[in-house]
Amino acid sequence: MAQLKYKIATIGSHSGLQIFKGAHDEGFKTIAICRKGSERPYKMFNAADEIISIDSYKDFPKIQNELIKNNAIVIPHGSFVTYMGYEKVEKLKVLYYGNKKILKWESDRHLERQWLKNAGLKVPMLFAKPKDIDGLVIVKFMGAEGGKGYFLAKNEKDFNRKIKPYKLRKYVIQEYIIGVPLFIHYFYSSLTNEIEIMGCDIRYESNVDSLGRISARDQIVLPKIDPSYVIVGNIPVVVRESFLPRLIEMGEKVVEVSKKLAPPGLFGPFCLETILTPEEEIFVFEISARIVAGTNPFIEGSPYTWLKYNKPMSTGRRIALEIKNAIKMNQLKRVLG
Ligand code: ATP
Repeated sequence: MAQLKYKIATIGSHSGLQIFKGAHDEGFKTIAICRKGSERPYKMFNAADEIISIDSYKDFPKIQNELIKNNAIVIPHGSFVTYMGYEKVEKLKVLYYGNKKILKWESDRHLERQWLKNAGLKVPMLFAKPKDIDGLVIVKFMGAEGGKGYFLAKNEKDFNRKIKPYKLRKYVIQEYIIGVPLFIHYFYSSLTNEIEIMGCDIRYESNVDSLGRISARDQIVLPKIDPSYVIVGNIPVVVRESFLPRLIEMGEKVVEVSKKLAPPGLFGPFCLETILTPEEEIFVFEISARIVAGTNPFIEGSPYTWLKYNKPMSTGRRIALEIKNAIKMNQLKRVLG
């Protein structure tokens, strides 16, 4: 069991429980780095063999030496990248799973757009100035805050009224696509050069997903009922099977382009965040170049991983398996960034 020399570590949040369970299933010991007061789930679900508590996630670099001493391999997830920022992640000395250089490309909305377009994917139109708005748009702020404050606008006047409370914030104005938001989870192995679909989810967001519970008559009389997109949880989805060939190809193209943008390119888990229209067009509005929380419903595996592995295989476990395979092949460096 060569993997026993290494431990799997991540921040206790986001998809930590899944990552730790997957690591245990593949024979690794685990370390959870928790903000003081948030340790309980990691004890309750026997997720962490060891817990390191810190006052703030910003203190993560301070405990690096302890992780290095433990031969820990850090797995980045959404909260990890958000709390640390990609510049700090790039400077980490501890063993790190994934390509750090790709984070810049997913963290900047403009670079991300360039990446997706280069991959030949359809992206929602962007409006440079409020006066250009000629249909329904979604206004998003820079810096992930989980969709807080995002608003819809139908023209310049509407935009100017709604932007008032956020005057100092940087934003993008994006075409609003009416369709079903679908989040597609992939895994690309840099050891075998194979792409896998791990699962799909839809998000349940507050308050946008509860607006349908209020009749239009009542919505009209409520003066300030703008939709917001604060994520509450994730719901598993199995897509129409005839979409699968297109989804696989989309994932492959994104990986192919990433090899030029930030060699050796994107590997490990990633997610395309899309909207499927009634015309069966697929618009990609975001890419996450690491594990997403939408994989959490699949701790026991998804229908797709069941087809491929015939045993429970979550994305967290798939990461651990990849690391284990790399260790066995004496090629750990190929999965570290
Ligand atoms: P995260 O970083 O957690 O993915 P975010 O704060 O970057 O979130 P987005 O994912 O860009 O925000 O968008 C939040 C939500 O807004 C999406 O889940 C989706 O429901 C909706 N949305 C985003 N872009 C569009 C669009 N162009 N058309 C329609 N709906 C959209």
